[in-house]
Amino acid sequence: MNITELARTLRVPPQELRDKLPLIGFDIGQKAIKVDNRTAKKILKEWNFLIGQLEAREEKRRVEEKTEIAQNQEKKEIKIPHFITVRNFSELAEVPVNKILAELMKNSIFSSLNEKIDFETAAIIGSDLGLEVMLDEALDKKEDGDKMSAEKLKDLLEKEDSSDMKERAPVIVVMGHVDHGKTKLLDAIRRTHVMDGEAGGITQHIGAYQVVRKGKAITFIDTPGHEAFTAMRSRGAKIADIAILVVAADDGVKPQTIEAYRILESAKIPVLVAINKIDKPEANIDKTKQELSNQLKITPEDWGGKTICMPISAKEGAGIDDLLDMVLLTADMESGNIKANPKSSAIGTIIESRVDKGEGPVATVLVQNGTLKIGDQLCFSGQSYGKVRALRNYLGENIEQAEPSVPAKIIGLKSAPKVGDILEVGAGEKIKNKKIKYAPQELTNKKSNESENENIKTKRINLIIKSDVLGSGGAIEESLAKIEIPEIKINIIKKGLGNITESDITQAEASQAQVIGFNVKSPSAVEELARSKNVIVKIYVVIYELINDIKSRIQELVEPEVKRVDLGRLKVLAIFRTEANSQIIGGKAIDKAIEDSSFIDVCRDKEVIASGKLTKLQSGKQDVKSVEADQECGIQYEGKPLIKEGDILQVWKEERITKII
Ligand code: GDP
Repeated sequence: MNITELARTLRVPPQELRDKLPLIGFDIGQKAIKVDNRTAKKILKEWNFLIGQLEAREEKRRVEEKTEIAQNQEKKEIKIPHFITVRNFSELAEVPVNKILAELMKNSIFSSLNEKIDFETAAIIGSDLGLEVMLDEALDKKEDGDKMSAEKLKDLLEKEDSSDMKERAPVIVVMGHVDHGKTKLLDAIRRTHVMDGEAGGITQHIGAYQVVRKGKAITFIDTPGHEAFTAMRSRGAKIADIAILVVAADDGVKPQTIEAYRILESAKIPVLVAINKIDKPEANIDKTKQELSNQLKITPEDWGGKTICMPISAKEGAGIDDLLDMVLLTADMESGNIKANPKSSAIGTIIESRVDKGEGPVATVLVQNGTLKIGDQLCFSGQSYGKVRALRNYLGENIEQAEPSVPAKIIGLKSAPKVGDILEVGAGEKIKNKKIKYAPQELTNKKSNESENENIKTKRINLIIKSDVLGSGGAIEESLAKIEIPEIKINIIKKGLGNITESDITQAEASQAQVIGFNVKSPSAVEELARSKNVIVKIYVVIYELINDIKSRIQELVEPEVKRVDLGRLKVLAIFRTEANSQIIGGKAIDKAIEDSSFIDVCRDKEVIASGKLTKLQSGKQDVKSVEADQECGIQYEGKPLIKEGDILQVWKEERITKII
């Protein structure tokens, strides 16, 4: 039969018929003109039924897709403290502030951006916005400390008298994919431009340094990678004014390039692109630009776009001066934002912090407003405090004070603050007034006591996780969160991006943590340190393997659950021998089999009158492991010798069940 004729009979367009036939099991080919009569007959007979089935299948799929989308949407979870400002809630929820305010209004709450709402309110409006809002008490301090201080910094700058505001050095952060040359670029700039020509000056690594180009100072944060930057940003601090995104010309745009750019975009920081390694024969500047344009929608200036893309070779020093000139140009355009009041008391962000062997706790602060001076009382994110005993610059020289944009190492602290902590001056007294009695040292002790107590009930696995990109770090965290074992807690004490560092090891040692790397490296010096400190460092390239390893560690810690399992009962038929603490008994297994090396409850008149052990089982004078129901046997009972003829012995054993994770 002709396809057109068949289509007419079925009242469908011929093309639709051709398309649908394979879906219902008739593969006649797209170009077929005819089908044989037998097939045609079959099609005519089964068409309605099969098409009905097909449509039902499609409808089911559509419904499933919809539910899946809905479920995915439902899944968005956010954790908040007891109180949160509308602004921070909107940031966390990734929902525009207006929408949050409107939602609040619907619930008769008229709030402003900086006003705090409580958890309950947030949870109610969150659920209307398709969010799962969860309370995380651990965030309470952070919210009060960091965010308040970060907001305070913003407010402070807004409140400063404009006549007091002076130009300050722009602060630059260098980001990009691993091995694309961030460190090399920072080294090259430092080597050639520190103190404008006095390149002999040996710089100390304090987390940031300053260079002078054309008489203007520029501050570089020289902890490359996203880790420090995200640590600072996660606490609401805006530390860098301009970013240099390094992309290797021989490798092009890579996952971390994309991630770095996304972070910078959301931080609203102007970006300059440094196309590095142009000295390499395989370097392809045009291809790199093409990738920037395709993957990141960055159009280079010379292609008619807005982004400066500077070809450089960090290795040979080519293009570095031009790059610095472009930094200055960008800073000029941003000059309205790159200002501070040096006369105020200092406020800044901690960009590096560690405990030095000789000097004790030291931290580098990047002063963002005001001037930091020796003798200043300090408060770090409202949680710990200290006093400036000495200050050093990036050349290791003692300095009396640090003005805005000047990185300075603070000596003489009693404890090391956290990277990203906001430093405020003059707030030490405030803390005391707030009656926060503990010094940071005591806080640490308190914490360790707490965890010891908890250890009785809950075992902990402390982890420090370093990953190549934020995405993979998040995925690892998510997978770990899914391992739910009440008695074991996975405690991620630090997570970050980039290679494993010595400070990760020191921190791991202090908190008895294991260091886990995902797609990152662990330099040999770091490995050595880890060995000497007995810190376990493991690097993975497959998340699945990482999770499996953690699971087996947890498995080792899981205590088996001990359960009583009743075996058969033994009807006592004869007592062969009675001793001080044992009896030899003859009897018959009833109900179920009984086993050797088990326990016995002696029952008389339906009451248990004694308990003991079954230490030997015999059948026909042979030692056996078990006897079946209805079989006669002899047993040795160890326990109070109270058993008499006619008693019923309930035999039972302990079964240890280890939960499999
Ligand atoms: P990071 O991971 O981004 O900090 O990358 P590094 O600065 O450690 O550089 C990674 C590797 O690339 C090192 O072996 C550098 O020597 C090399 N490298 C960096 N910049 C250049 C460059 O301009 N040209 C060449 N040929 N090699 C470079």
